[in-house]
Amino acid sequence: MILALAYSWKVIKLSKKDYYEVLGISRDADENEIKKAYRKLAREYHPDVNPGDKNSEEKFKEINEAYEVLSDPQKRSVYDQFGHAGVNGQGDFNYGGFGDFGDFSTFGGFGDIFDMFFGNRESHKTSGPRRGADLRYDLEITLEEAAFGTEKDIEITRMEDCESCHGTGAYKGTELETCPICHGTGQEQYTRSTAFGRFVSVRTCSKCNGAGKIIKEPCKTCYGKGKIQKVKKIHVKIPAGVDTGSKIRVTGEGQPGEMGGPYGDLFIFIYVKPHEVFERQGNDIICEIPISFVQAALGDEIYVPTLEGKAKLKIPAGTQPGTYFRMKGFGITRLKGYGRGDLHIKVNVTIPQKLTPKQKALLKQFAEISGEEIKEQHKNIFDKMKDAFGG
Ligand SMILES: [Zn+2]
Ligand SMILES: [Zn+2]
Repeated sequence: MILALAYSWKVIKLSKKDYYEVLGISRDADENEIKKAYRKLAREYHPDVNPGDKNSEEKFKEINEAYEVLSDPQKRSVYDQFGHAGVNGQGDFNYGGFGDFGDFSTFGGFGDIFDMFFGNRESHKTSGPRRGADLRYDLEITLEEAAFGTEKDIEITRMEDCESCHGTGAYKGTELETCPICHGTGQEQYTRSTAFGRFVSVRTCSKCNGAGKIIKEPCKTCYGKGKIQKVKKIHVKIPAGVDTGSKIRVTGEGQPGEMGGPYGDLFIFIYVKPHEVFERQGNDIICEIPISFVQAALGDEIYVPTLEGKAKLKIPAGTQPGTYFRMKGFGITRLKGYGRGDLHIKVNVTIPQKLTPKQKALLKQFAEISGEEIKEQHKNIFDKMKDAFGG
């Protein structure tokens, strides 16, 4: 085991050859010498020339790696000072960014391997049908609407097929012409010059953008775009239980796609307006109700507001300030689940600020009966404190 490990380590160590050795040049070789050596070797070990030969493939990789570093003065100077550790540790050294060699990705002959090496698939992309962009609409609703769900008519502005030309972009009566560049295929061939000579590659036609047809005389309404901006009315169902931040997807009501691609989606972002009376907490709502100290002491039956109108609530005798009463099922409908949240009524006991002489007399009497000694009414708080501490 130890032997095997040591052995493979050695192999790895050895496999990283000196870049100057790889290209067979001296340490003071100039740019031209490097390029010349590289071209010669690359031609020799090119995988197209040696199909299926693993050694050539390895060698070819090495040559590219060496050239990538030595042809870049900055990388070369780092390599001269620090060796492999310097250039490999820089993070920008990989098979993806090979200057001249990016061309190989369009080569064709050994597609997969080279795509793997160069990581460059961009040039293989054809511009086929593309899905349209999504749209956003911000909708403000009331708490009641959020609680029970609602239906709304909204207006969105989006691109739609031009009616004058039925989306073709060509002026009434004029025909679309087959693209003279690609002859209707949507792809054009072009020649690239690389270190190994000239190669023919294929890309999306630059004249027709891959459509294969071009407009001879553009439509006067849409100026040849085939699409115009329109305001569309959409009927939207808002489910019960939504909250600020909820998103509702309306499939297919976004922007139209390109080249026959599907429409994007419309996303409705919900914003629930703050309520005058109720405060929402998840699916529960809270409401504060003032009651008099008499009601609190004696108990009463009061009317409280709910999302659906008034409801009766029994206040038991001896209710303390700040007590909550739960009204089960009077809250918000649960968006995902069954039933509704609760309504919590918080009672605030109010103390009268102005008393008539008669009320005063009665309260004094009440205090007397309770064995409470009420001192003079007109002393301020500081005088009362003096009394309390014997000052
Ligand atoms: Zn074309
Ligand atoms: Zn048009």
